[in-house]
Formats: sequence, structure tokens, C-alpha cells
Amino acid sequence: MMEKCCYKDCEEDAVVNGIVYARNPEGGKEIPTAVQACEKHKSVPGFFPSDGGDK
Ligand SMILES: [Zn+2]
Repeated sequence: MMEKCCYKDCEEDAVVNGIVYARNPEGGKEIPTAVQACEKHKSVPGFFPSDGGDK
């Protein structure tokens, strides 16, 4: 069961799990964060689908 899209102001159902890299407020490496995205947002720059298929 998928959750809602994690993108701001988006109310769509998520269709894919993925990773975004959040800027670390303390500097240094960016922080990988697990998110879900809808059909529209799964192809935006900065979103990396984690294609494991259904488990
Ligand atoms: Zn969305």
C-alpha cells in the first residue's frame, strides 16, 4: 500500500518509492532521505527511484 506523494503541496497517491538528497544544515555531505512520489513527481530532477519492485 502506497502512501501519499511526499512533494510539497501534492495530494496525489504515490506510485514509487525513492530517495532524495537533502542538504545537510550542518554542511558536509547531503543526507539521503526515503520518500514516495506520484506519477508526476517521480521524474523531477533530484528524485532517484529505488526500484525494488513490490515485496
Ligand atoms: Zn506528487
